[in-house]
Amino acid sequence: MSFDENRGGGFQRQMYKGDWQCAKCGTPITELPFEPDPSRLDKLLCRQCHQERVRSFRR
Ligand SMILES: [Zn+2]
Repeated sequence: MSFDENRGGGFQRQMYKGDWQCAKCGTPITELPFEPDPSRLDKLLCRQCHQERVRSFRR
């Protein structure tokens, strides 16, 4: 399990499947484009909340 396995075959988006919940709105999260940090599972954000947060950072 390493990112090296993705090399050489063009860009491949790997989705991690699981059973999580958005820390902000409570929406169930079943897929993530990254491997979630086990110590931060209670701070996961759904795609929508994540985009809102990114937007607020940029203002
Ligand atoms: Zn959310």
